Amino acid sequence: MVGKFENIVVGTGISGLVCGGYLAKGGQKTLLLEKDKVVGGRWHHLPMGNFTVVMHLPLIMSSLEGGFWAVAAKDLGADVRQRYSKEPRVFIDGDSSCMIDIPRIMSIPGVTDWSLDYLQTLCTEKLPADLRPELFKLWNDILSKPLLEMAEEYAELSLKEYFESRTSNPYVRHLFSSLSASMCFMGSAGLSWEYASAGKTFVMIRAWVAGEGSTVAPHPNLIEGIAQPFARAIEALGGEIRLQHTVEEVIVEKGKAVGVRVTSPNGEQIIYADRVIVTASWLQVEKLFKEVPADIQEALAKPKTIHRAGAFLVSLLDKTVSHEPGFVLVTDAKTGDNIGGIFNQSEELPWNSSAGKQLIWMYYLDDLEEIKKKDLDDLVAKKLNPILDRVYPGFLNTPKWQKFFYSEAASHNGLSGGHKVFAKSPDIENLYFAGDGTKPNYAAISDGAASTGMAVAKMILGLDKLGIL
Ligand SMILES: Cc1cc2nc3c(=O)[nH]c(=O)nc-3n(C[C@H](O)[C@H](O)[C@H](O)COP(=O)(O)OP(=O)(O)OC[C@H]3O[C@@H](n4cnc5c(N)ncnc54)[C@H](O)[C@@H]3O)c2cc1C
Repeated sequence: MVGKFENIVVGTGISGLVCGGYLAKGGQKTLLLEKDKVVGGRWHHLPMGNFTVVMHLPLIMSSLEGGFWAVAAKDLGADVRQRYSKEPRVFIDGDSSCMIDIPRIMSIPGVTDWSLDYLQTLCTEKLPADLRPELFKLWNDILSKPLLEMAEEYAELSLKEYFESRTSNPYVRHLFSSLSASMCFMGSAGLSWEYASAGKTFVMIRAWVAGEGSTVAPHPNLIEGIAQPFARAIEALGGEIRLQHTVEEVIVEKGKAVGVRVTSPNGEQIIYADRVIVTASWLQVEKLFKEVPADIQEALAKPKTIHRAGAFLVSLLDKTVSHEPGFVLVTDAKTGDNIGGIFNQSEELPWNSSAGKQLIWMYYLDDLEEIKKKDLDDLVAKKLNPILDRVYPGFLNTPKWQKFFYSEAASHNGLSGGHKVFAKSPDIENLYFAGDGTKPNYAAISDGAASTGMAVAKMILGLDKLGIL
């Protein structure tokens, strides 16, 4: 059929860009369809008045040849611009609040000792002496396993399932559920224990605590600094990107994906292809099918019962209170829960806020129903602003403009331990899935999403090796 594509990639988040880029480089006629006006997907930023709030610092597993999307950028010729950001710190919020650094610790004894220090700040009692050898053994297992293997093997296990067969020590649960609550953006330590993926928790810990990864500050922001260079590279390789093209349906005939039904400013059309690769986030995937494939139904069953929300408090200060620290995870000393995180954007991306002002934002994590019951002004005044003042002394007394809003935060489902959608659909022929809720996924968050795009391209191109896989 004239004009028929070999591949249609639905979505231009980092997974779609990496996947589409490699398929185009492999010489295949590839079309990327994006419902939004820009590429980049969830890597969005918010223009607010004269400044821009950049809500992501993409993760990069720097121990793996620089990380998946960085390797893809090199392979595809995408001229991305970014620099490493500082290691995050943990602010323990309690009677004797304190800041804990996360230095790059390379050795297993070093990580063991750091984790004991972390745990001791959460516990009023002195930790038992026999905890160290037990923790050493657990860290040894976690840190010595090859990263790609570990990310995959433990991806669909919860922390509880992973540790249950190894120990019943309550200190171990307290430590790992608390670290996971902040590093997997779950908020509640209890929820993390039951629900967070052990594999993804360990990837995040290995990235930050064991020095195997980093987050990067895009220059000037995610779209212009990273996503658009990928898009230009794809077009240079012969791929085609159509923005403002919403895929309404993946067309399935006789058990095979044959194309998509699309609406765009020009109306509705059907575009045929040999294969369809869906990278829409898990929340949007089921809408694309007349009959939702069984594998997707299974993956969505659990997340649909978990209602998390993320709230954002953006503060633009009329003067600078402090240029330190960069990204701070805030943990409740009593419970080990993660309250949220603070990002001093003026420190990491100073070019995005106006001279003489300081831009700091904070996210707050909670149960969606709980947060709906709260008086948000009260939450900001009594809880969030006082935390910000402890991290940045002088914050409360500085004139500022503030905006607080919340959104559903089912955004980090890729970090949960439940069933993931398999890259090559077991239900429908010629249908593939990439994105952070799919498997195989060899890392986490942005770099994990990039790895899924690579993995799918590799399957389609029939290559033994692509990038770092
Ligand atoms: C608030 C927030 C903060 C985060 N912070 C970080 C961070 O600091 N570091 C980090 O590494 N990761 C972070 N993440 C996670 C990271 O954003 C994701 O892991 C990553 O962007 C996922 O990429 P993706 O390609 O899988 O999906 P997406 O980026 O969601 O891409 C999917 C694309 O598909 C498009 N699409 C969907 N449906 C259709 C349709 N029907 N037709 C056409 N197009 C469609 C969407 O518009 C989108 O462009 C954060 C996520 C959120 C929400």
